[in-house]
Amino acid sequence: MKNKNDTYKPDWTPKNAGEEFAVRVVKGVQKISDTKINSAKTKNHEVEDLVKGVLTNDRVLLAKTITLVESNARAHFEKAQSVLHKLLPHSGNSIRIGISGVPGAGKSTLIESLGMYLIEHGHKVAVLTIDPSSSITKGSILGDKTRMEKLSREDNCFIRPSPSGGTLGGVTRKSRETIIVCEAAGYDIILIETVGVGQSEITVRSMVDFFLLVQLAGAGDELQGIKKGVIEIADAIVVNKADGNNLQKANIARSEFANVLHYLKPVTEGWQTRAFVSSAITGQGTADIWKVMQRFVEITRASGVFEKRRTEQKIEWTFRMIEDELKDSFYNKEIIKNEIPRLKLDIEKGNILPTTAAGKLLKLFNSNSSI
Ligand code: GDP
Repeated sequence: MKNKNDTYKPDWTPKNAGEEFAVRVVKGVQKISDTKINSAKTKNHEVEDLVKGVLTNDRVLLAKTITLVESNARAHFEKAQSVLHKLLPHSGNSIRIGISGVPGAGKSTLIESLGMYLIEHGHKVAVLTIDPSSSITKGSILGDKTRMEKLSREDNCFIRPSPSGGTLGGVTRKSRETIIVCEAAGYDIILIETVGVGQSEITVRSMVDFFLLVQLAGAGDELQGIKKGVIEIADAIVVNKADGNNLQKANIARSEFANVLHYLKPVTEGWQTRAFVSSAITGQGTADIWKVMQRFVEITRASGVFEKRRTEQKIEWTFRMIEDELKDSFYNKEIIKNEIPRLKLDIEKGNILPTTAAGKLLKLFNSNSSI
């Protein structure tokens, strides 16, 4: 029903016309300029709504908040920060778990199996993905197929695909803030999935408490084709697809990994990284994986390593953002953009030393910078 105040009688209606007179003009929608004038009021209202929605785990408002956090628009940034600021005191109460492995290793099947197991045991699970391919190829390795169908139907599960576009740094910032939002909504297990492309594994390691590497048993040397350094950042390795004809191969692969791990310095102080086998499809080994994670949390919480890592991650995150922001403002400056092709030519021709060229660009930036 329209409010009586929203209508008025135009001046061409008869003077003595009563309420029964049919002609009324209904006020239209507010002009954009009016909306703008009221924007400060509307903004606060929306921030409160979003915060309340997240805290009561209203899935629509939760998704809306994450969309706001993921937005690249400058105008959304402040609002997103206000929401996050209010959510921050309610965050942090989760176990953040990174899961990585090559495409086809069985990550999504394992997440489905582990996620269902955790939900059955009273947990609330959020699954986020970090897909570096979206920033490299504009395509998607993780998102193209229907994944985790059973889990996605669960009330106590929230699945959010990788934010798309932008640099890995940008995707990472969004994911870190999405973790805060999900925790405030009461999700106590955050699973962050990624694929072994570029820096993505290192990036995920820098935002989780526990890092699980999913591997496959191949023929022959198991360590071939595994990116150097990835084993070093894992808190556990699981050789998946340990079922049927593959069981024996998986067990052999597991002991090969165990041998290598024996000689490596574990990534987490006071914790020995070990290798396990699992079958995500039958669920064999899922409970064991969870036991390992629980034990890890117990040990690292008791020793203080858990909190120490989280603090270090926050500090690292702060300075990484500064680096990203500085880099962006440097390369997006018109004068720098214009100068780079000229300098590149000079470098190619050998007219200028790289150090001199770098110095020249930095000087140009500093003398034209308002910072
Ligand atoms: P992702 O790309 O790492 O997420 O891998 P998926 O979870 O999509 O799995 C790739 C394929 O391997 C699918 O066809 C799965 O059904 C299959 N798969 C996953 N886990 C297992 C397992 O434990 N045993 C067997 N036999 N197949 C599996």
